[in-house]
Amino acid sequence: MRIGFIGLGAMGYPMARHLAKEHEVIVWNRTREKAEKHSRDHKTKLAGDLADTAAADVIITMLPTSREVDEIVDKLMPGVRRGTLWIDATSGDPNVSRRTAERLAAKGVAFADAPVTGAVVGAENATLTIMIGGSPEDFERARDVLRLCGKTIIHVGAIGSGHAIKVLTNSIMGATVWITAECLLLAKQLGIDLKTALAVTNAGSGRSNASENLLPMRLVDRKWPLVFKLAHHDKDIRIAMSLAHQQHASTPLLALTSQLFTASLHELGDQADYIEVAKIVARMNGTEW
Ligand code: NDP
Repeated sequence: MRIGFIGLGAMGYPMARHLAKEHEVIVWNRTREKAEKHSRDHKTKLAGDLADTAAADVIITMLPTSREVDEIVDKLMPGVRRGTLWIDATSGDPNVSRRTAERLAAKGVAFADAPVTGAVVGAENATLTIMIGGSPEDFERARDVLRLCGKTIIHVGAIGSGHAIKVLTNSIMGATVWITAECLLLAKQLGIDLKTALAVTNAGSGRSNASENLLPMRLVDRKWPLVFKLAHHDKDIRIAMSLAHQQHASTPLLALTSQLFTASLHELGDQADYIEVAKIVARMNGTEW
């Protein structure tokens, strides 16, 4: 199969590498050097121009937001072929995705939203969880391709539902990281050793990915790697909030989480990692992390 892959960022770069094990993958990236390196190192084909990716059975986008995806759709629209499947792996906005899908459908191109979770390590090891929105037939087509990148692939529902559940699950994670940082730093202020506070939390009902994996490395080992940009996480929570508004749903904790993450982004800048929100929690308490 011929796949056009657009967006070789932290996630897209390794995903395109896995796909090249079974398919002819044509890669395009805004910063061309990354695509050149990819084609050299992983036997993919360098797109001479963005338009080259349109001559494919499957087009995959892995970009920051639905806005960039739509810009690419605009540019490729004249060259897309009837029968192509467009898989958008971006953590996008379901409302935008549905409109994009309609535009593509007018050209005979099918669309599935297929955001992923599992972080860069999951993309590197092809162990991502992938949540897909689209018709049952398009789900099957997408799964057949994306199985090379992920371990768990779930059909969520109609177009847009993959994007919806992605931003909701990331919102759960955001709120969990924040409250866990608050309570651990409060324990420290109370004179409890952080390692002890973590040991108790992880042996009890406060346990989560935040307490087991994400926060110990930062708060105890004082390592703050960039694994997922706060800017992306803030975007996901803002999309979740917009969906809540749309449904006239009462989600006060989601609203507060969104406000806290947006404030943190303004404080920390767009190159910060999402777990650095724990630094803001510390600052709000005049304490150290
Ligand atoms: P990166 O910031 O690492 O990469 C973004 C990619 O998009 C780069 O290839 C970049 O090109 C390209 N890009 C940015 N702006 C434009 C534009 N205007 N036109 C064309 N290309 C553009 O992002 P990630 O790979 O981390 O994330 C991608 C998506 O995956 C996001 O939606 C994110 O929320 C989601 N995600 C990320 C995870 C993670 O742990 N990182 C985990 C799960 C989901 P260039 O190289 O030129 O900058």
